[in-house]
Amino acid sequence: MGHIIVIGAGIVGLATAHHLLREGVCVTVVDRDPEGDKASFGNAGGIAVTEVIPASVPGVLWKVPGWLADPLGPLAIRPAHAPRLIPWLLRFSRAGRPSEFKRITAALAALNTRVYDDLLPLLAEHDLREELQQLGALTVYEQKTAFDEDAMQWGLKRSCGIEVRTLTGNEAREIEPALSQSITRGVFTPQWSHVRDPKTLVDKLRQSLLARGLCIQVGEVCGIRPGLEGGAVAVGLGDGRWLPADKVVVAAGAWSGLLARRLGDKVLLESERGYNTTIPDPGVVLSREVIFAERHFVATPLSCGLRIGGAAEFGGLHAPANFKRSQALARLAERYLPGLRTEGGTCWAGHRPATPDSLPVIGASPRHPGVIYAFGHGHLGLTQAATTGRLVSDIALGKPPLVDLAPYAISRFN
Ligand SMILES: Cc1cc2nc3c(=O)[nH]c(=O)nc-3n(C[C@H](O)[C@H](O)[C@H](O)COP(=O)(O)OP(=O)(O)OC[C@H]3O[C@@H](n4cnc5c(N)ncnc54)[C@H](O)[C@@H]3O)c2cc1C
Repeated sequence: MGHIIVIGAGIVGLATAHHLLREGVCVTVVDRDPEGDKASFGNAGGIAVTEVIPASVPGVLWKVPGWLADPLGPLAIRPAHAPRLIPWLLRFSRAGRPSEFKRITAALAALNTRVYDDLLPLLAEHDLREELQQLGALTVYEQKTAFDEDAMQWGLKRSCGIEVRTLTGNEAREIEPALSQSITRGVFTPQWSHVRDPKTLVDKLRQSLLARGLCIQVGEVCGIRPGLEGGAVAVGLGDGRWLPADKVVVAAGAWSGLLARRLGDKVLLESERGYNTTIPDPGVVLSREVIFAERHFVATPLSCGLRIGGAAEFGGLHAPANFKRSQALARLAERYLPGLRTEGGTCWAGHRPATPDSLPVIGASPRHPGVIYAFGHGHLGLTQAATTGRLVSDIALGKPPLVDLAPYAISRFN
């Protein structure tokens, strides 16, 4: 394989470039803003390998009206976008049927089980091993009822080989003393880890790949022309240039659906916008990522400060961000972390590329084998990037896949 173009310089595109370069492929990454802000920069930094439960759990739809009623609550749908969201929501509802739920959980577990096999060598090769903090994560609860409600999910995780240790409130405070007395239960998941700063990771990885021969082209990809002579493809840029290649990988995050649809491949992909506030001097110390289960937010101790984030807002790719959400999350955290100082926090928002079944799209286009898709990782793009890159590289080079790729095929949206 001579030359492959990867569209997107987020963590998924860069991890794909890493694996292809290792195989001796000549790689060009095209991005309209390779060093700019994107989901891969501002996320919570979690290597959340224990997250094998899809967003559409049986019964979740009953909770939606309550979440939507709170204007700064965990879920929001912008009214102007609601009609366009209907097909996605219908598919989301279908994903919550018991048989689908089981199938999706198995498919997420198949990817997440491989994560460290692919991530640790990638970090080591780029001298980034220090960026990973393998300290587990702590999920905390105030109410016994909420803990009991989640018992089925924790049991399912155990059955997928995930280590789950239940704790009393005091045991949770022993490992994270900053937590308030209102916490009555905890669950420790030692396999979870977090990175010191997702932006630093992406910046250093990009620089290291450039030093190994990666070529980066700045440009807006407006089209892909497949089926050229000899199976080649070409990528069209906004300035009228066409870049030829043997294959193209679409790793353009939440924007990937626009490119796939232009090629005739149907896909349900939405921007699920998330928000956070990063506080450089928070006045409290956490050692690991803490997940506040009932309130649907997380706090991660990063080298740039304590990042408090969450929220799922469906408003399309063009709606302006509502940073009141970032501020509301920081205020919420004050209740659970007494002494937290939120002054000086930086607000941020980013587009999670969300499919309705919580599974990414990984695989070749059924219409155009020269085009390979690698997007739709939702809440788990940082976690699954190295594994996705490995799988995409194997697809491009015609190697047998390490996992059954059927659950991730784009054809599931036909
Ligand atoms: C608040 C929040 C918290 C999160 N926390 C976590 C977490 O703890 N753990 C985890 O695993 N994941 C987390 N995620 C999800 C994760 O950040 C994303 O799934 C992941 O970053 C997606 O990476 P990507 O490379 O696919 O997309 P992106 O990072 O969005 O990169 C896509 C790139 O494609 C480029 N692009 C798009 N279209 C074009 C075009 N037409 N032409 C040229 N360039 C184009 C863009 O400029 C961009 O650089 C979180 C996300 C958010 C928003």
